[in-house]
Amino acid sequence: MKKTLYTLLVLVGMCSISGAQSKKSPKLTPEQARLEKLKQEAAAGVEKRAQLGQQINDMLFSFSELGFQEVESYRYLTELLEKNGFTVERGIANMPTAWLAKWGSGKPIIAIGSDVDCIPKASQKPGVAYQDPIVAGAPGHGEGHNSGQALNIISALAVKEIMEREKIPGTLVLWPGVAEELVGAKAFYVRDGYFKDVDACIFTHVGNNLGVSYGDAGNNGLVSVRFNFEGAAAHAAGAPWRGRSALDAVELMNIGWNFRREHLEVTQRSHYVIPDGGDQPNVVPSKAAVWYYFRERSYPKIKKLFDIGVKIAEGAAMMTDTKFTYEILGSAWPGHFNKPIAEAMYQNIKKVGLPTWSEEDQMLAMASQKELQAPKISGLATKVDTIGLPADSPTRMMGGQAMSIGGGSDDIADISWSLPTIVLRYPSNIPGLPGHHWSNAISMATPIAHKGVVYGAKAEAMTLIDMLLKPEIIKDAWDYYKNEQTKEMQYTPLISPKEMPAVYLNREIMNKFKPELSKYYYDPTKYKTYLEQLGIKYPTLRDDQKEDLKKIKLEAGK
Ligand SMILES: [Zn+2]
Repeated sequence: MKKTLYTLLVLVGMCSISGAQSKKSPKLTPEQARLEKLKQEAAAGVEKRAQLGQQINDMLFSFSELGFQEVESYRYLTELLEKNGFTVERGIANMPTAWLAKWGSGKPIIAIGSDVDCIPKASQKPGVAYQDPIVAGAPGHGEGHNSGQALNIISALAVKEIMEREKIPGTLVLWPGVAEELVGAKAFYVRDGYFKDVDACIFTHVGNNLGVSYGDAGNNGLVSVRFNFEGAAAHAAGAPWRGRSALDAVELMNIGWNFRREHLEVTQRSHYVIPDGGDQPNVVPSKAAVWYYFRERSYPKIKKLFDIGVKIAEGAAMMTDTKFTYEILGSAWPGHFNKPIAEAMYQNIKKVGLPTWSEEDQMLAMASQKELQAPKISGLATKVDTIGLPADSPTRMMGGQAMSIGGGSDDIADISWSLPTIVLRYPSNIPGLPGHHWSNAISMATPIAHKGVVYGAKAEAMTLIDMLLKPEIIKDAWDYYKNEQTKEMQYTPLISPKEMPAVYLNREIMNKFKPELSKYYYDPTKYKTYLEQLGIKYPTLRDDQKEDLKKIKLEAGK
């Protein structure tokens, strides 16, 4: 029943696509008519692959792999792409879980990417509106990176089918954002030349609406640095005067940084964890480490912040009579995205529109928003975003000006500063949740995520057809890149030629949780969806949550 209704809604959606077209441009040239027809076919080809999209989405969700340890995701995705005719290059840029999958030949070469890694301690049962981990303490998709490859693969397969039949030249290159949460991979892809012949890049990232932006994204770039202090061990009670505590140095560095914080620009974000604080109290820690993210709005500002960090580390080492070294573990530029491609994408976003959410979808969304004390209990998005940054972005552009107060980072920017790139956001998540949090996993293997993937894939597939058949889009994209984006600011990597990807990160955590997580890997040969496999009623709400929703509905009805 549900499926029939969904198919019907999709058909209605398809009709409105052609309806809007014929109203706007009654007289199409034969080329325009062909283009429109192929774009509709691409959207229909995506719809036909909705089940595959759901399977990929749910599979990656169940793997729950942290950055650089995306071993199962890597195996599953590369095998799937090979089965579908792609040629896969494995272990690119010295990363065992990174890959490039190519299909087609000749120009244009279009790269299509999305992240694959998840968040520590974010394990959560999908479809449950309160904290209930699948495996307590384990990683989970609390950012929704399980959905982007599903979107890209079904859109690329739909487009490939059309390219084959119509003999359209061009190369599709699918790739994963490995270790995005560590901003650990993309600058290395660029440095090692994997994007040097690529004409344009479409990147997809989960959001809570269908949207795209161009120009300065208003976010921060960052450099991720681990400071390793070294002192001298000693009996902490018997001869403490003979010891030099590396942990003291870490603590003094943090105190120094936290005092200095008041005198930094308001756009900076900086945070740290202590991955090594010594072994046990009765031994003066001879080794300790602190790991910082230094975030700012531009390359020079990031460098400056990093320099201040090094100076404070020097001070801490001097005070404690210890030594230190530092290593760069990751980096990202602040985002800047391409206008002509974003505009082409936005036309298609408007045609695709938003999914029709069921009552169950909205119940899950609103109950989760209430549970997490979201600023608004408004359920899922029902109106397509305007072109630009998301409505809830703290870094929104005001009147075309970057009135940014800083914010998060994504190393897709290193690619966007190297060639024309856009980020398509799609509505697989619930608005108003904290981000990097177990609650952001609630929707990620439910109909909300599945529909968001299909709608995003339609917009992407239609834009790919545009890019393949209208060479002026890529020409204009390079014109924007050369004459506007990089006119005053050119890309300088934050990593040097000698840095290597920190592929050892997260290894121990994954080793610890993988045996337990693997009991819950999704088996699509036995279960239609992951929800079905876990035996979760959709949606699952506590009684008090159901009562709250009734009250909210009553209030809204007044
Ligand atoms: Zn992300």
